[in-house]
Amino acid sequence: MNILILGSGGREHALAWAVSQNPKCDRLIVAPGNAGIAQLAECALIDILSGAAVVAFCEEHAIDFVIVGPEAPLAAGVADACRAAGILTFGPSAAAARLEASKGFTKEICDACGAPTAGYARFTEAGPAKAHVRAEGAPIVVKADGLAAGKGVIVAMTEDEALAAIDDMFGGEFGAAGAEVVIEEFMEGEEASFFILTDGTDALAVGTAQDHKRVGDGDTGPNTGGMGAYSPAPVLTDAIAQAALDEIVLPTIREMARRGTPYQGVLYAGLMIKDGKARLVEYNCRFGDPECQVLMMRLGAQALDLLQACAEGRLAEMRVTWAEDHAVTVVMAARGYPGAYVKGTAIRGLEALPEDSRNMVFHAGTAAKDGAIVATGGRVLNVTARGETLAEAQARAYAMVDAIDWPEGFCRRDIGWRAL
Ligand code: ATP
Repeated sequence: MNILILGSGGREHALAWAVSQNPKCDRLIVAPGNAGIAQLAECALIDILSGAAVVAFCEEHAIDFVIVGPEAPLAAGVADACRAAGILTFGPSAAAARLEASKGFTKEICDACGAPTAGYARFTEAGPAKAHVRAEGAPIVVKADGLAAGKGVIVAMTEDEALAAIDDMFGGEFGAAGAEVVIEEFMEGEEASFFILTDGTDALAVGTAQDHKRVGDGDTGPNTGGMGAYSPAPVLTDAIAQAALDEIVLPTIREMARRGTPYQGVLYAGLMIKDGKARLVEYNCRFGDPECQVLMMRLGAQALDLLQACAEGRLAEMRVTWAEDHAVTVVMAARGYPGAYVKGTAIRGLEALPEDSRNMVFHAGTAAKDGAIVATGGRVLNVTARGETLAEAQARAYAMVDAIDWPEGFCRRDIGWRAL
């Protein structure tokens, strides 16, 4: 099977790593890829936001299966274009990807199918939005409706903060994504991520994880794209996960199908857990980054069989075989991230690290330059390890971190603290 993965981050390196181990995989191309991905797959430069460009590339290279990593190509309809050209594709249509691309739409689906989530109201003008905030009081959550790379959500602890957020959003801070604003009830609890594959009809849970959004130890400092993750997330017990599947995810899948826009791909449910019950915070229409890294570490080569069955509508016949262990990924970022950071600094010592089914350094923002690996992004490496216990996985991951010679990089030292 000739496989094309779209994307260039640690998530796509982890997907490529898992897929490449499956004997079914004859040829693997990742577009655009990065320096780490180039060690196990071919990398190609394609405009991955253009369905026509991706389809033309697939035809030229006899690609049998396309796996879409990030949300932007999904929202741009790249999966639709591939499927219309008869190419087997993992990832939802643009219509189904609205579950991530529009927060208001997700709320509408929750209402229609009775999925528990925060109370909310939708606005297209500042006046009524502010009146709503004054009536409800703080804490309250103000969200730009559209995709804003995780920055369009303000958890306001005071009314003034919420009012300022409304002005910013309608003032154009998030462009078209802020043309509509969703205001939500503040939910207390512990967050966890739940990953479900669905072919539009059947659903298969493929793991739980917890992310670490803040840049500093002890969840301090500004928000980031994610500084580390671990799987499984013990807060999502089997009972809570089953209830979330029955009360949130399956009703959503049925409602999407009923509307003629069946969802096919991975559904990433961000859940808030309190008193043994889960409520939906948000859906994402792709694997989380860095959560994908710990999921792939635990799934290994079977990931390809699962993604393929999902795309072919055969999920009902699939089962997941779990490694009964834990995985941790620590994100190493360039100093200054998530603010301004220096690019192009050299990273040494990677070649000496073990790379096997229990230890992997996934690359997120790297390039090869004159035979050396240099940092090209904010989040740069995802140092990932498995262990019999979470503590063992964590110790292995940090042992690798400590062996990496990159003075311009930093990481959190407490990934996994909630579960330890
Ligand atoms: P990302 O892509 O970074 O996950 P997003 O822009 O898609 O974020 P959400 O996941 O909806 O936005 O919200 C971001 C974060 O804000 C959540 O992970 C959660 O911590 C917090 N949050 C969102 N909605 C609520 C809510 N109703 N109550 C409490 N916290 C919330």
